[in-house]
Amino acid sequence: MSEVQILSSIQQFLTRKHGHFIQGQHVEAELSERIELKNPATEQVIATIACGNENEVNQAVDSAHDAFINAWANTSPYERGLKLNKLADLVEQHAEELAQLETLTTGKLINLSRHLEVAQTAVFLRYFAGWATKIHGQTMQPSIPSAQGEKYTAYTVRQPIGVVAGIVPWNFSLMIGAWKIGSALTTGCTIVLKPSEFTTLSLLRLAELAIEAGIPAGVINVVTGKGNVGQYLIDSPKVKKVSFTGSVPTGIAIGQQAMRSDLTRVSLELGGKNAAIILADSNIDEILPRLLQATYVHQGQVCAAPEQFFVHQSKYDEFVAKASGAIQQFVIGSPLDESSMFGPLSNQPHFEKVKAYLELAKKNDQIIAGGRILEGQGYFVEPTLLKITDIHDPLFVEETFGPVVNVIPFETEEEMLNKVNHSRFGLTASIWSNNLSQVLNLIPKVEAGSVWVNMHTFLDPSVPFGGVKASGVGREFSDAFIDDYTELKSVMICY
Ligand code: NAD
Repeated sequence: MSEVQILSSIQQFLTRKHGHFIQGQHVEAELSERIELKNPATEQVIATIACGNENEVNQAVDSAHDAFINAWANTSPYERGLKLNKLADLVEQHAEELAQLETLTTGKLINLSRHLEVAQTAVFLRYFAGWATKIHGQTMQPSIPSAQGEKYTAYTVRQPIGVVAGIVPWNFSLMIGAWKIGSALTTGCTIVLKPSEFTTLSLLRLAELAIEAGIPAGVINVVTGKGNVGQYLIDSPKVKKVSFTGSVPTGIAIGQQAMRSDLTRVSLELGGKNAAIILADSNIDEILPRLLQATYVHQGQVCAAPEQFFVHQSKYDEFVAKASGAIQQFVIGSPLDESSMFGPLSNQPHFEKVKAYLELAKKNDQIIAGGRILEGQGYFVEPTLLKITDIHDPLFVEETFGPVVNVIPFETEEEMLNKVNHSRFGLTASIWSNNLSQVLNLIPKVEAGSVWVNMHTFLDPSVPFGGVKASGVGREFSDAFIDDYTELKSVMICY
């Protein structure tokens, strides 16, 4: 077992006294208070970041507003696309650096950082780049009566909404930040990003690369710090839209604050308690590797990943035996070691939360497999399977956002659907079966924004993504994001 060598450029980057990134340059923090970033695999402090204040947020918003009016608005759609593509090129050129930063701050396995987080960041940026030249309105012919021969015509135009606040969580900070950058920049908006206080560094680095890509100063700004930075952004009158990805409680608070702040537009991509439904005809040996990969990727800290396996009674015992055996084979270890299959949880507060869930399950004798909290340095827990059937049990209801999954037997489709839809969330679900008519009948009955069949946890920029019920408001990707980042202006002309 050996760990990848940390690049010297990253060693240097970590030792910098990081401030904010405003108007195309580093801005030293006004407050002396710093936030320590810890490597979750070792609990060692690897860097510190600044705590933004209201004044710095206002500077960043002013910078984004000036850039919106004076720079980005004068950039043709073609050029906007070129610059986003150039940024994608630079992400690829600096892929190892960005991957190491992500792994050091989130505990994500290095190969996942390389092949998912960083590689998909470039893929998404290129996808959004392609939209810049394809955003358009429509023409209409009004039916207004003509008294003296006058005629009427009408058209719609999509105008960029203005300055966007992009508030980002810690689990895929670079890629989710890039979703917000791509959506904003391709539609002609500018952005102030507020990365998570646990995983701030990769977006600070991306903002530097954006300048190298020729994106004008002020188009992308980053203010680091805690939740209050996000609150200042929402209250700023020059911020016209908040794009938030994070937890349900924070999302609800942000939605309420945005409505109070003169109906600032808001899109919310929130949490879930996602179901994977394994029907009676499933071949367990065939589906298990894919299902477990989708479930335990990044230690289950993926909003779209399943936390509940609903397994038909006829396959339940076989499923439990084989899934338990498989997760016990996961090699738990340093995320910088390419042979590790399972790393640490991403930060201490989250570790404490997952630990509390595991202790509760242990106390209630609900653990089927795993469930141990590993001793020593780092926020390591085992991948875990639980048996919880009471729909009021906190572990049935609440998002753990960890590698903690319930296996629930069901006999009838109706009983299974009642339990699946009992959730207040509705982000994703999957159905595992080759029984086409049963699957097609089930899809409309499952309350979720995305339903996968014989797959789970796959996001593609061409397919809209977002939640129903408490899992969110709005959709990302495809052409669905355009509504959220533009205002539709109607023009009528009499001639
Ligand atoms: P979080 O809600 O705690 O924090 C998200 C971001 O919001 C952070 O940058 C944080 O500093 C900021 N913030 C906190 N309080 C704020 C406030 N009052 N006003 C403005 N900003 C505030 O979420 P997290 O713990 O970073 O992320 C995990 C959660 O994110 C999980 O629930 C997960 O399901 C969800 N998530 C959803 C998606 C999706 O696309 N639906 C993707 C990834 C993660």
